[in-house]
Amino acid sequence: MLHTNKRRQRTAFGAAILALGLAASTLAAAREPASVYVEDLTSPEVQARIDKGATTVLVPIGGLEQSGPHIALGKHNVRARVLAGRIAQSLGSTLVAPVVAYVPEGLITPPSGHMRFAGTVSIPDSAFEAVLEATARSFCQHGVRAVFFLGDHGGYQKNEEKAAARVNRLGGCRVHALLEYYGATQTSYVAELKRRGHGEAEIGLHAGLADTALTLALDPALVRTELLAPGARAGKAGGVAGDPTRASTALGQLGVDRIVAESVAAIRAQLATQLSKPALQNPSRKP
Ligand SMILES: [Zn+2]
Repeated sequence: MLHTNKRRQRTAFGAAILALGLAASTLAAAREPASVYVEDLTSPEVQARIDKGATTVLVPIGGLEQSGPHIALGKHNVRARVLAGRIAQSLGSTLVAPVVAYVPEGLITPPSGHMRFAGTVSIPDSAFEAVLEATARSFCQHGVRAVFFLGDHGGYQKNEEKAAARVNRLGGCRVHALLEYYGATQTSYVAELKRRGHGEAEIGLHAGLADTALTLALDPALVRTELLAPGARAGKAGGVAGDPTRASTALGQLGVDRIVAESVAAIRAQLATQLSKPALQNPSRKP
């Protein structure tokens, strides 16, 4: 009887050890997040990813900007982060930097453009370009070979190009203003909406059908659906260009699909061109 009890105890002990071992291996796996976002990783994890070939970084660029009575001010920030994540997952071996959330939005005093509305924040072009340049150079310093700026707002696309050109003059790591990311929202997404019977006045340029639907598809919590009709009535004086009344998640998904597909294709093309050229040494890179 005593012998049997001891055997039972030994068996229970063995099972406990096995369970502990499984728990430990599960924990170890949990400690290596699959996230593409640099913010979610430790420095050694980022270094390991780079060493294993994750040498492309996407820098999502958003902004804090009014979009009428029906879309929250963080629209660009949320969309840029989510879309950059999907693009990175589709590409593989790609990391995503934190969102650049402070961007040029017009004169502060007297206020111009979106700055006429509460909650919008604007910074000078020079400060914005300096942030983009330094961000790209930081990743290049750590072994990244290609940096892409993904700007969700139309007004600063030229600034992205200027910042990229300045870093590229240093040689080595290549920086690209991915104009295709924003371009898809103005071309193929609009064409898809027109094919479904929506006119230009409804699709709009800011906080209209296209903008509102895209936001609904990526984070519906940002859209006050009960205020779509007041949004349509707001007009330019109220910070809206377009009619968001018929905006839907399904229509926005058309935009999401176009942006991801066209960005992935453009990045792959840029990387193929870059790889066909001999690698240059970045003079700013220290061993
Ligand atoms: Zn904008």
